Amino acid sequence: MKPRYLILTLVAVLGLAPLLLPPFYVTLLNYIGLYTLVVLGLVLLTGVGGMTSFGQAAFVGLGAYTSAYLTTVQDLPGWLAWASASPWLTLLVGLVLTGAVALLLGALTLKLSGHYLPLGTIAWGLSLYYLFGTMESLGGHTGVSGLPSISVFGWELNKGEEIYYLIWAVLLCAMLVTQNLLDSREGRAIRTLKGGQLMAESMGVNTFRSKLVIFVISALFAAVSGWLYAHTQRFVNPTPFGLHMGIDYLFMALIGGVASVWGALLGSGVLTLLKQWLQDLLPQLFGSTGNYEVIVFGLIIILLMQRAPGGLWPLLLRLVPASWKPRRVISVGAAAELPRRDLPAAGEVLLEARNVTRRFGGLVANNDMNLDVRAGEILALIGPNGAGKSTLFNQLSGVDTPTSGEVLFRGQRINGIASRNIAAMGMSRTFQHVKLLPEMSVLENVAIGAHLRGHKGVLSAALRLDRAEEAELLAEARRQLERVGLGDYLDAEAGSLALGQQRILEIARALCANPCLLLLDEPAAGLRHKEKEALGMLLSRLRSEGMAILLVEHDMDFVMGLVDRVVVMEFGQRIAHGLPADVQKDPAVLEAYLGGAE
Ligand code: ADP
Ligand code: MG
Repeated sequence: MKPRYLILTLVAVLGLAPLLLPPFYVTLLNYIGLYTLVVLGLVLLTGVGGMTSFGQAAFVGLGAYTSAYLTTVQDLPGWLAWASASPWLTLLVGLVLTGAVALLLGALTLKLSGHYLPLGTIAWGLSLYYLFGTMESLGGHTGVSGLPSISVFGWELNKGEEIYYLIWAVLLCAMLVTQNLLDSREGRAIRTLKGGQLMAESMGVNTFRSKLVIFVISALFAAVSGWLYAHTQRFVNPTPFGLHMGIDYLFMALIGGVASVWGALLGSGVLTLLKQWLQDLLPQLFGSTGNYEVIVFGLIIILLMQRAPGGLWPLLLRLVPASWKPRRVISVGAAAELPRRDLPAAGEVLLEARNVTRRFGGLVANNDMNLDVRAGEILALIGPNGAGKSTLFNQLSGVDTPTSGEVLFRGQRINGIASRNIAAMGMSRTFQHVKLLPEMSVLENVAIGAHLRGHKGVLSAALRLDRAEEAELLAEARRQLERVGLGDYLDAEAGSLALGQQRILEIARALCANPCLLLLDEPAAGLRHKEKEALGMLLSRLRSEGMAILLVEHDMDFVMGLVDRVVVMEFGQRIAHGLPADVQKDPAVLEAYLGGAE
């Protein structure tokens, strides 16, 4: 069965539900829809972006209270009076306000790392909650009542089974928009946030901006949910927007499966129904009233995190026969080639390290290093393990900043410039310890390299107006994969490739950025003889096209037959440089690097 039919079936069932179910269940479904909308934001934020927020309920409150206030207060200031005419206008105000607050809070808290971020979200979640409760104009703890109902084309959504349709239509749109976003250039950048930020920055992604984007989107989803909630209840008070609800939203995300859009729906559904059921059952069991269900939820979470840390959705997927499962195959059609950078004239100095020193405390990992790389040549940087080669790579590519000395790229000093800006100037790199997103397809991993060659933003992606550009980016990724010999693996999970192939994948990703200088950190490690030969041929071809290549390598035979010049490092210092044949005979090199052999 195709996923499309599953979704059509779901829509049909959802459409008929209010006609067939008693009102109580329709109300439950309304709640599930409202919760799912918030949890969907958490899927983006926590599941995809790796950021935990306990504060989503506060954004729900912001959306709810904005609309409650504006639609009920009599004496609005003149400049806001227009908004009170319809809940749709107050929704607009709520979204603008929530967006602004989320930008501010995001800018303040998203730079926090580790446990400080969730703690930060608790802090502002509590602050907003108490704000709702203490502001007199918002009715204090009694809240605001008498909200009007929402009307759609003149149809007043007074009853639960009427607003039901609006809630679920909005939710399905939000799910679609989220899915579209994840499946785009910006979406790939967002998907690097969990575990690939250093790599993404080297490919030109502004990871902080990506974090802010999903933070704001998740806040907006929450605000819409709050708006719908307020006009479903026609009444608001602070209780549903407190920290306990923020925790419940996280529970729903974790139980359902925080990594998928459908997990959000499943989690909200299961938790809402379970809560209802337990609230009826447990007080009967214990013979007194109380929120016993919280204890049960706690136990369930602990059990689930041990047995199925990915939540229920992946578990459910495992039960589904393989032929039903949506197989993620991205079709890459024919597309116009992306514009390419003019490569500099052969022999032009592109990259220069001048007296670069990098200290880590007392350890001098790079000591007064000098080298230059010219267009149309391959320069090898060799030296024993721990000589400081990777450290130098990091200084050259903006991942790290030298303690002293300068790095020049295309005549411009680049010390201290962010690696994404250096990437934009035409430098692209691979990593000694492969950095890719193992669960993402090979094609999509490589397409991250083309990030800077696309321009379509979040809105285009959400509305799928980016398809032409997306086709070009994916076609470029495929072209580079075919060029490096991985054309048969486009849809494979990157993590399923052999280590040697993963290194080659990184080269394809680097090439996707359309660089004029490639920095390759041990690209041949783990390759078999034949693969090394193929890699050598690829690098020679790139050189003949005018590319400059700086290569760290261990395999002497591979290096000596291939490269134009060699720089030899030991203990952070340059001990020799020159033509391969000369360097090979240099006594200092023989002593240090080859251990005095020959
Ligand atoms: P190579 O790539 O030539 O094998 P590296 O550049 O990885 O060598 O390491 C050079 C030296 O610098 C090693 O002694 C290593 O332990 C040290 N080093 C590298 N990175 C760091 C760091 N971030 N903090 C402290 N020491 C480091
Ligand atoms: Mg190294």
